Amino acid sequence: MKTKSAVLRGTGQDWEVLELELDPPKEHEVLIRYVAAGLCHSDEHLRTGDMPARLPLVGGHEGAGVIEEVGPGVTRVKKGDHVVCSFIPSCGHCRWCSTGQQNLCDLGATILDGCLLDGTYRFHLDGEDVGGMCMLGTFSQYAVISEHSCVAIDDDLPLDRAVLVGCGVPTGWGSAVYSAGVTAGDTVVIYGIGGIGINAVQGARFAGARNVVAVDPLANKREKAEELGATHSAASAEEAQDLVTQLTRGVGADSAIVTVGVVKEDVVESAFNAIRKGGSVTVTGLGNMTEKTIHLNGSMLTLFQKRIQGTLFGSANPMYDIRKMLDLYRTGDVKLDELVTQTYRLEDINQGYQDLLDGKNIRGVIVHEH
Ligand SMILES: [Zn+2]
Ligand SMILES: [Zn+2]
Repeated sequence: MKTKSAVLRGTGQDWEVLELELDPPKEHEVLIRYVAAGLCHSDEHLRTGDMPARLPLVGGHEGAGVIEEVGPGVTRVKKGDHVVCSFIPSCGHCRWCSTGQQNLCDLGATILDGCLLDGTYRFHLDGEDVGGMCMLGTFSQYAVISEHSCVAIDDDLPLDRAVLVGCGVPTGWGSAVYSAGVTAGDTVVIYGIGGIGINAVQGARFAGARNVVAVDPLANKREKAEELGATHSAASAEEAQDLVTQLTRGVGADSAIVTVGVVKEDVVESAFNAIRKGGSVTVTGLGNMTEKTIHLNGSMLTLFQKRIQGTLFGSANPMYDIRKMLDLYRTGDVKLDELVTQTYRLEDINQGYQDLLDGKNIRGVIVHEH
């Protein structure tokens, strides 16, 4: 069959909306009709070359849609199911899956090659294999994906909102709740209020933090953070440092979470300086894969017993946490409607990313036409 998809053909180029050939699903694969796709910064990291991927590639790793057809042996979902995609597949029985770390599943090894689990491709352009970002390629009307990437959800949930729990919401929420381990009464500093940081704010608030300090140079981001649970906001790291010193009477924050769009040395150092003895810095954002982006004084690390850690998908388990986020959306404890700043047609994807870079969006969402 044919599908309209946004393809990246070379580093530094724009997304091109092209008609691709799509193969039918093989064993343990499904044909999905994507309803919505989120514009996450990670796809922009592919475009700039910060993250090296095999090109050409259909972008998009935040997706929600409806299963149209299943291949042989599929048991996890059936035709007609509504699905939120997990950008890391989970097999359920590797070392990581079987110890509650599905976000580290071994099946995630080839997500930047964009091939399916058997090493072959379902998207083609003039006879050439085209990958799908994170084995998904949600910037496409249709895709063939692994059943291990599918999380079935209730039919009554709006897919153009549920799409956000594929990456941004659990990654941010989990960074606060699981990785940083925020507990009642804590002081937490969150650097960068985009599609991830705003959900670290929501997670920290829900976990009972006393002080949630949102740091962002843009006033619209700070306002949104305060609307969704930040108790304080700061326009710069220096301002945040002063605020934290004052709020904790010189002790420092319990945890700091780095969710800026492009992680560089200075923001990690600011986070390191803002935390107390025994506190933690959680690095959730990405930066250039070939640059060293953490440069800290090891003696301060040792003497103040500080911790610095990375987190992928907020250390959440896709099969559990994607549905959990939606349960919390139903009860009003996690806001999704408020996160969508703008919706776009697939043809307007480059405008969507320009708006992201211009700081206009908390989250932009593509709504597919069929
Ligand atoms: Zn993402
Ligand atoms: Zn696994």
